[in-house]
Amino acid sequence: MDTAGKVIKCKAAVAWEPNKPLVIEDIEVAPPQANEVRIKIVATGVCHTDLYHLFEGMHKDGFPAVLGHEGAGIVESVGPGVSEFQPGDRVIPLFISQCRECRFCKSPKTNQCEKGWAADHYDVMALADSRFTCKGKKVLQFMGTSTFSEYTVMNQIAVAKIDPAAPLDKVCLLGCGVCTGFGAAVNTAKVEPGSTCAVFGLGAVGLAAVMGCKFAGAKRIIAVDTNPEKAEKARVFGATDFVNPKDYNRPISKVLAEMTNGGVDYSLECVGNVDVMRSALESCMKGWGVSVVVGWTDKHDFSARPIQLIAGRTWKGTLFGGFKSKDGVPQMVKAYMERKVKLDEFITHNMTLAQVNEAVELMKRGGCIRTVLSVSRH
Ligand code: NAD
Ligand code: ZN
Repeated sequence: MDTAGKVIKCKAAVAWEPNKPLVIEDIEVAPPQANEVRIKIVATGVCHTDLYHLFEGMHKDGFPAVLGHEGAGIVESVGPGVSEFQPGDRVIPLFISQCRECRFCKSPKTNQCEKGWAADHYDVMALADSRFTCKGKKVLQFMGTSTFSEYTVMNQIAVAKIDPAAPLDKVCLLGCGVCTGFGAAVNTAKVEPGSTCAVFGLGAVGLAAVMGCKFAGAKRIIAVDTNPEKAEKARVFGATDFVNPKDYNRPISKVLAEMTNGGVDYSLECVGNVDVMRSALESCMKGWGVSVVVGWTDKHDFSARPIQLIAGRTWKGTLFGGFKSKDGVPQMVKAYMERKVKLDEFITHNMTLAQVNEAVELMKRGGCIRTVLSVSRH
């Protein structure tokens, strides 16, 4: 059946309000407008940022919304003015756009495109406009993507075309977690060969950061997590040591300093906790240590003693691992196809969209690395 130009009715997991289970609903997805692409989502990962919006951020204007921002799918139809995509293209929706025209896109120093939801709706975490309705109400597209839906509509500046041979139920992880962690190490920290690194938090983002440190040639990678079950996985991705802060009654930064004769060269915070961000900074070597904030929170302030920076440490943050999204994602898909980066090892559970609440609860209790939901058949 040709659906181009028509409203599609399909299943989506709607977050009607914060702190409540998602509800599988029939929603209406409008046809793509100028420069837009309608995508059939095949698979999506569940990332902690989805949980953040639902349980922590809970911005009142950010609901109802369809969550999900780590998906992969197939172009169903395109709106006027789209020449880069055609129906059947395999794509990854991008929560950070790359328009190639704004002052940010033109600068090699950043991936923060000026267009897209992130430009002016950071707190709400969605575009004001949406192509979704349900029961007569507008439903927001979380991070512009909304991959917990059988169909979504995206501006073409936020869609990456990928190798048609790539398995969508694996490469979906490159839509967020794996690019974020890997890029945090490689692009943002710029880890050097022979260096010593510490990664705090070993979800998919942190494990991808471990993989990035190894890829960049780090000789020692200390994985830090309060969940001892993460130790084994960390080794799979290249960690040489595992430290559980709960095993010590002194600050973890002291423990790491003792282990490394003064501190690590690079530390990466992949938890989203301001106290851990401070610990990660204080775990760095004075003189040259670089600490990268990867974990997401917009709720709390962090603090540190200025002497930490005066003594020569650098504190940085990263969005999507510093990758310019449209350029970076297809390159990472290629790297996966050439077996230069791992993806399969992140996936601990496979479920369907109907089981999304189970997947959310599993992540909440630390029972998974990534759950991949199959969203629609292709
Ligand atoms: P996750 O929940 O799977 O992993 C978090 C890990 O941190 C868990 O293993 C948990 O046991 C560990 N942890 C909790 N408290 C800790 C502590 N005090 N010390 C050490 N470890 C601790 O989450 P994820 O999907 O891997 O995401 C990680 C973070 O990255 C989240 O904050 C998420 O919102 C953020 N994120 C940021 C970006 C970005 O662009 N900057 C993109 C994606 C995700
Ligand atoms: Zn994410």
